[in-house]
Amino acid sequence: MTFSDLGLSPKVLSAVSDAGYTKPTPIQAGAIPHALLGKDVLGIAQTGTGKTASFVLPMLTRLEKGRARARMPRTLILEPTRELAAQVEENFIKYGKNHKLNIALLIGGVSFDEQDKKLERGADVLIATPGRLLDHRERGKLLLNGVEILVIDEADRMLDMGFIPDIERICEMIPFTRQTLFFSATMPPEITKLTEKFLHAPVRVEVSKAASTATSITQRLVKSGNKPWEKRETLRNLIKAEDADLKNAIIFCNRKVEVSELFRSLLKHDFDAGALHGDMDQRARMQMLNNFRDGKLRYLVASDVAARGLDIPDVSHVFNYDVPIHAEDYVHRIGRTGRAGRAGKSFTIATRSDTKYVDAIERLIGAKIEWHDGDLSTVTESEGEEQPRRGRGAPRRAGRNDEDRKDRGERKKDRHAKRDEAPEIAREEQPVAEVADIAERRARKDAIRSENERKGSGNRHEQRGDARPQRDRPGRHREEDDATVGFGDDVPAFMRIVAKV
Ligand code: AMP
Repeated sequence: MTFSDLGLSPKVLSAVSDAGYTKPTPIQAGAIPHALLGKDVLGIAQTGTGKTASFVLPMLTRLEKGRARARMPRTLILEPTRELAAQVEENFIKYGKNHKLNIALLIGGVSFDEQDKKLERGADVLIATPGRLLDHRERGKLLLNGVEILVIDEADRMLDMGFIPDIERICEMIPFTRQTLFFSATMPPEITKLTEKFLHAPVRVEVSKAASTATSITQRLVKSGNKPWEKRETLRNLIKAEDADLKNAIIFCNRKVEVSELFRSLLKHDFDAGALHGDMDQRARMQMLNNFRDGKLRYLVASDVAARGLDIPDVSHVFNYDVPIHAEDYVHRIGRTGRAGRAGKSFTIATRSDTKYVDAIERLIGAKIEWHDGDLSTVTESEGEEQPRRGRGAPRRAGRNDEDRKDRGERKKDRHAKRDEAPEIAREEQPVAEVADIAERRARKDAIRSENERKGSGNRHEQRGDARPQRDRPGRHREEDDATVGFGDDVPAFMRIVAKV
């Protein structure tokens, strides 16, 4: 099958041929003919499958008829992150080079003014992240009742990021006569529900299971002790060992605090690194990404949120500095390498506390991942435990070089960072599974404490001649027993004398 078999317009076909693409990918072959007929499409496909062109190309063909009106975009594409939105815009520019279309990109981190001007001019294509889109609408600068085609891209990522209520609101603002093209790498129940509510008799096109990882990627697990400095050391050693094959690498961390810490550490150790996380402003993120893409940076330290779906065609290595908490993120992360049939390598640093996450990943991908240099049972004491402090008279380690000094500085910083940054992790980026773990631990602790206190306060009541069991008075239980007040159980005898009133 060729692109000209799909029913695309001559202008689009010419741009595709200029891009050098000769054969449609399976998602393109499956989705484009239906999208051109105005049908709803449910595309189950990951990034890297050519899914962007599978909605951009038919949209361009359909947009050739009609004109945009001020503040009333004709089509709307929702993306979970700014980078993905910007990437879709690039696709429209590339494939729409023979069209005169107004494209408006509404993303956070940039001023409203420019975006207002684009809306005012009338947008044929509006590409937006949900939050910024709703902001514009609330400011009265945007009407959604002229939208003929709605694209919801990376729906499962939207779910992870908590955007589903926003998506529902937006869907309800757009006429039901619209065409909806919906893409997701996976179909968890919440996403299925969303498609049942907002898609009309969709054609389902599924190109590959989200759980599958490309066979062109060599995957390895790498054991490490669980202290940050140990993990950083493991990473540095790995990078050095891979040097000959390593063209460039993305290094994934679970949290943005780790992204910045690791980034600073790599710089200190003279690695040519950049960082990408959600707190950076848009210009800095794009700059960083372009530098990495153009080969000006060899290492990019990134969080999942910042890196999901990025189209960086030629990455030789992916390092998971942390084992991802959500098994599906593993598939997405390592999918950054081994693209378009190229060989790629992924190394996942695992500590003893990561075992359950590694198990979940292996269950998802349906395969065991080989260990690079011995499994976790071979982690030595010093790798798993805090290194003993050297006493005053203790012999100094041999080879006190720069590396050692940098390491010691970082270990010291780790101790401070732990104290300083824990609240930020809890507030902003604590992974859901971990939050659940903590909640469970807290609940268990609460139950034990209540039980102890119930026993303790029962004694107090008995001493006061009030033997009514606590459970008779559930409302007061917490108020009375939650905290030790005054002397607690060590109340001096004279204070126990009941005063007559
Ligand atoms: P996507 O899944 O949309 O992120 O696309 C992944 C990569 O595949 C991008 O670099 C596209 O430019 C490229 N691509 C899209 N369609 C084709 C095609 N038919 N043949 C070869 N490469 C393509």
